[in-house]
Amino acid sequence: MDERYDPTKIEPFWQAEWERAHLYLTGEDRSRPKFYLLEMFPYPSGNGLSVGHLHNYVPSDVVGRFKRMTGYNVLHPMGWDAFGLPAENEALLKGLHPKQTVPQYAANFKRQLKLSGCAYDWTREINSSEPDYYRWTQWFFLLLYQRGLAYRAVGSQWWCEQCRTILANEQVVNGCCWRHTETPVTKKDLEQWYLRITAYADRLLADLDLVDWPEPIKLMQRNWIGRSEGAEIAFAVADHPGKEVRFFTTRPDTVFGVSFMVLAPEHPLVAEITSGSQRAVVEEYVGQARRQSEIERLSTAKEKTGVFTGAHAYNPFARKNIPIWIADYVLMGYGTGAIMAAPGEDQRDFEFATKYGLEVPRVTAPLDGSAPDPGSAFTEHGITINSDFLNGLTTADAVKAVLRWIEEQGIGRPTVTYRMRDWLISRQRYWGAPIPIVYCQRTCGIVPVPEDQLPVLLPDMKDYQPSGTGRSPLANVPEFVNTTCPQCGGPAERETDTLDGFACSSWYFLRFASPHDDRAPFERASVDYWLPVDLYVGGAEHAVMHLLYARMWTKVMFDAGLINFKEPFSVLRNQGMVWAADGQKMSKSRGNVVTPDSMIGKYGADALRLWELFMGPFEEPTNWNEDGVTGTARFLTRVWTMVRRYVEAGCPPGSPSTETVRRAHKTIQIVTDHIERQRFNTALAALMDQLNYATRLEPNAIGGFAIESFVLMLAPMAPHIAEELWRALGHDHSVHLESWPKYDPDLARDELVTVVVQINGKVRDRLQVAAGATEEANTAKALASASVQRHLDGKPPKKIVYVPDKLVSIVV
Ligand SMILES: [Zn+2]
Ligand SMILES: [Zn+2]
Repeated sequence: MDERYDPTKIEPFWQAEWERAHLYLTGEDRSRPKFYLLEMFPYPSGNGLSVGHLHNYVPSDVVGRFKRMTGYNVLHPMGWDAFGLPAENEALLKGLHPKQTVPQYAANFKRQLKLSGCAYDWTREINSSEPDYYRWTQWFFLLLYQRGLAYRAVGSQWWCEQCRTILANEQVVNGCCWRHTETPVTKKDLEQWYLRITAYADRLLADLDLVDWPEPIKLMQRNWIGRSEGAEIAFAVADHPGKEVRFFTTRPDTVFGVSFMVLAPEHPLVAEITSGSQRAVVEEYVGQARRQSEIERLSTAKEKTGVFTGAHAYNPFARKNIPIWIADYVLMGYGTGAIMAAPGEDQRDFEFATKYGLEVPRVTAPLDGSAPDPGSAFTEHGITINSDFLNGLTTADAVKAVLRWIEEQGIGRPTVTYRMRDWLISRQRYWGAPIPIVYCQRTCGIVPVPEDQLPVLLPDMKDYQPSGTGRSPLANVPEFVNTTCPQCGGPAERETDTLDGFACSSWYFLRFASPHDDRAPFERASVDYWLPVDLYVGGAEHAVMHLLYARMWTKVMFDAGLINFKEPFSVLRNQGMVWAADGQKMSKSRGNVVTPDSMIGKYGADALRLWELFMGPFEEPTNWNEDGVTGTARFLTRVWTMVRRYVEAGCPPGSPSTETVRRAHKTIQIVTDHIERQRFNTALAALMDQLNYATRLEPNAIGGFAIESFVLMLAPMAPHIAEELWRALGHDHSVHLESWPKYDPDLARDELVTVVVQINGKVRDRLQVAAGATEEANTAKALASASVQRHLDGKPPKKIVYVPDKLVSIVV
């Protein structure tokens, strides 16, 4: 064994060896329990991977290796989310073609992952921009179409001037494009394809209870779906017979307090009911509102503005006419584009009423009978007042009474609304899967491309720049556009829009089960065995979009009888963000990106891996710090020395002390438990503790069990050095084919000490507790003792004196 630990020597050697031995192929023995481990489908960017990305891949790799050692059949595949805006925008920026850049960038990602010692089954690699993959993306689109879940409609949609394409609601972040965070989005009216995700709103909500996901992600999905229960009610417009304002409210109990109404400036009624004297000011306001983005209009920070239309609505509860205003914070796309304003119970309405001198009736009082604060709205539930037949009812009862009343009167009904809109899936861009639809010029209309004619191949185009006309560049390729109708054989044109890149990632997790199947998107038996994903790891930025879309497609497939599970990802974990050493985001422009290549060149992959695990709790953000890698490299050198001394002593089975045996078992217990709970930093800390302890001992006093179990536990975290040391210990097969070490819970038990419990100086009990247990734990145990309870006889302790590992003295 070499004197010195030299990762540059052992790492390339073992990587080549493992590849030759096909060590990381997926197990095919389906009698074993399976574990499907997946990281979110990366988009292979030209920048390559940074040490920040490895904060996702390395801990996942540890889980995969650990699960394999604990007896699972592990599926740990990797592929490339290669279609879509990010890849196309990057290629455009560099003046290249995505057909060249994507394979080149993917190859670089793959090289970096291998360099980092991450164990993937590369025989299952997939690329969403390859015809053998997108053929099935198109197939799923047709499945959705046949099930009535894909439809075409004209809508006013988000448009990014830089992307020159439509964006989904989910792709608009703070009023800007998700890819161009400085470019405000605008609106454009276009005929588009939508997926009816709203049909799944209730199930997408309810089934969040079936998965083990971080609560903040579940909450973001709930908020995005935005289900609210309430009532839809119509008030007649005064002096305009037959005209009415329909609105939705979640607080129908406050109807007696409705003192004005607000319409969206785009509401079709506005033009009809605006009075002559108000017309000029209303028209100016409408024009202004149209120029603002939805996000700006909804911003809570912005001061609310509005103008009076000159018209009134009749409030049939309060039995009086109330003014109708327009305001830009009411949007046409949500609900009915009109709201009732109950300024006594809604803070936004209160501020609006105060600003414009409108009446503020009070119809809800606090439950304690006090009067509502005149300086603000009372938005909580309470007791209804000033409301005729609702007086004295609680908010909940008043809601029920109003719902009954509006139904009897025929002016409304109970209803549920959602914030989520249907998913806009067509893009006027080149780099995506062509939408497999043909428009027949005779009589057939919209005709889906028959399954046996898939894939609809993306034509080769040199100049694939987005046109900005609202049509995709594919419209410029007559050989692509002109076709025959699959139904009547007459002349027809192909759809020229492509599918949003998120369509590709909505089903890729199924493809890994049988990645080379050319008869179906997946083989049923393989999917039944491997799916759902047991651990899904990726960034929290995918809380909506990918994680919502993939859930919807899974439910569609479930409904179609294609799969037997409703949720694709049983457990989800979000790795914490790694900021650069300067606390900024790592980016090329800031020049603060640290690559795995540079770190591995200096310290080796194993040292880098250990620092990725040790730099902080897996799910919490942290700053990059190169000193950490020098620390973990030092740790590995010390491990090397410990094992070398043991090997040079002839690998004695040894005669370890009781304490040494206890520590060896205890370490296995802690490391096992912490890896299972994704606490990689504390798992590694336990190994460091154990090294500190064992280093002080002679080889004979450490013993074979402690040394071998240490190397086995190191294997998932630092696979190269563990392999080298394992062989040096005399084994002739890979450490990565070994079983995870087992501990004996009796031997792992903490050392016990006797703590004496006194009451007023008299010994009342003796407790056997773990050495080093905390004051709280021991005091609680002492107070819970039957003998102590009897002697206290219900009297509260006045004072407790505590001596660690020795005494709890209670004074009463
Ligand atoms: Zn953009
Ligand atoms: Zn036809």
